[in-house]
Amino acid sequence: MSATLSAREKKKLDDRHEKILEELVKQPGNSACADCKASGPRWASHNLGIFLCISCAGIHRCLGTHISKVKSINLDTWTPEQIQNMINWGNANTNQFFNPHPEKHPIPLDSKYANSLRCNFTGKVREANLKLLF
Ligand SMILES: [Zn+2]
Repeated sequence: MSATLSAREKKKLDDRHEKILEELVKQPGNSACADCKASGPRWASHNLGIFLCISCAGIHRCLGTHISKVKSINLDTWTPEQIQNMINWGNANTNQFFNPHPEKHPIPLDSKYANSLRCNFTGKVREANLKLLF
């Protein structure tokens, strides 16, 4: 679809998407980061349908795109399907679905620790895969 859009049409679509995202991120539930509850998230995982702060977005990037696909609300280009997923889910629905009892399964709030832990894990797996190859 994007291939058939003119530059002006594409700009219009991008503007519309950004407007929708800016509206969504103000809504209760979305106005705080899905993971750490920091206010005013500017990032999102479009496959999970959640809004994230920059620190948690970094953690999600480390998880790999097979788990979480991270985009900036206003710096990246979005497809209509990705926007629709954000509308369908949102922080409250997604957290309810994946983690209905946060008191029993808290998300690690120390993002620095979680970040290095997850990145190191990903790095170690890559390293192991490389060793198998050579
Ligand atoms: Zn966060």
